[in-house]
Amino acid sequence: MMRMTVLASGSKGNSTVVSSSRTRVLVDAGLSCRELLKRMVLAGEDPATLDAILITHEHQDHVAGLAVLARRLGIPVYFTEPTHRAWVRMVTPRTTMTYGKWLEYVQQEKEARAASIAASSEEDAEDENPGAPSFAASPQRVGSTNLCETPSAKSNPAHLPAVEYFHSGSSFCIGDLDITPFTIPHDAADPCGFVFSAEGIRMAVATDLGYVPPNVKAALKRIDVLLLESNHDLEMLRDGPYPWSVKQRVLSRVGHLSNHATAEFLSNDYDGGAAYIVLGHLSESNNVPELARIAAEQALASHPTLLGNRVLLALQSAPLDPITL
Ligand SMILES: [Zn+2]
Ligand SMILES: [Zn+2]
Repeated sequence: MMRMTVLASGSKGNSTVVSSSRTRVLVDAGLSCRELLKRMVLAGEDPATLDAILITHEHQDHVAGLAVLARRLGIPVYFTEPTHRAWVRMVTPRTTMTYGKWLEYVQQEKEARAASIAASSEEDAEDENPGAPSFAASPQRVGSTNLCETPSAKSNPAHLPAVEYFHSGSSFCIGDLDITPFTIPHDAADPCGFVFSAEGIRMAVATDLGYVPPNVKAALKRIDVLLLESNHDLEMLRDGPYPWSVKQRVLSRVGHLSNHATAEFLSNDYDGGAAYIVLGHLSESNNVPELARIAAEQALASHPTLLGNRVLLALQSAPLDPITL
């Protein structure tokens, strides 16, 4: 038995549960911890039985609830090393500053020191009154840095119960789930998709890719349930509300797959063997679910002898019913 439950899909958050009869993993944690737990319960997936969280890439819509959820459940998080580093940088408050900011900081420090010296000389004067409390021994304040406030493991926003690294292209196992991560072209540190297999069934997650390169075409062979991006309608994106720079990013080779590009993959490169194709990461501003569905179904119709291949649409706002094979 294998099961895929898409909890959420789209630019406001992505998360999918993939399980075999003995192992259960969460792919991405792009909603708040509270919302992820709520949706798991709604979809009949017991959060307490999750074995691990796997991260495709460090964009906010894939990691928003990661740290809180992993700590709450006490389970390991699997990343590639560059993705983990990028995530740590992202969640750690910045301590570096521009030269201008540094000058401003130095000036503030100087003023604070001058104020502190002025205050202590006033206090010295008051010390002449033997009844007044003495401040002479109090440490001089040098800015707001307090060395006693070193962040503990708990207050460290990048703290996780355990971190495991994998490499795209190298399979690994969690319980009886065999997992093959593959590189995808997207503007993140080291983004990937996954093929999961157990008991002869194969399920794949392939979203957030600017185009479908040969390694992705090769990875997506003999898949039984395929979660595939169908992000935008080209015309809606072109005429839509996004600024030109964002349109360029989405359309680029490291952006997102259009309905057209997904259809092209389904008619030309897809082997036609899936029971279910779940279209995901649909843009709410630049797509209409029916357009995505029609494009995919027309592409699939070009395969003459196709069985199965039910097209489903993953939602942003609610979990899909679990798909069990
Ligand atoms: Zn992304
Ligand atoms: Zn995304």
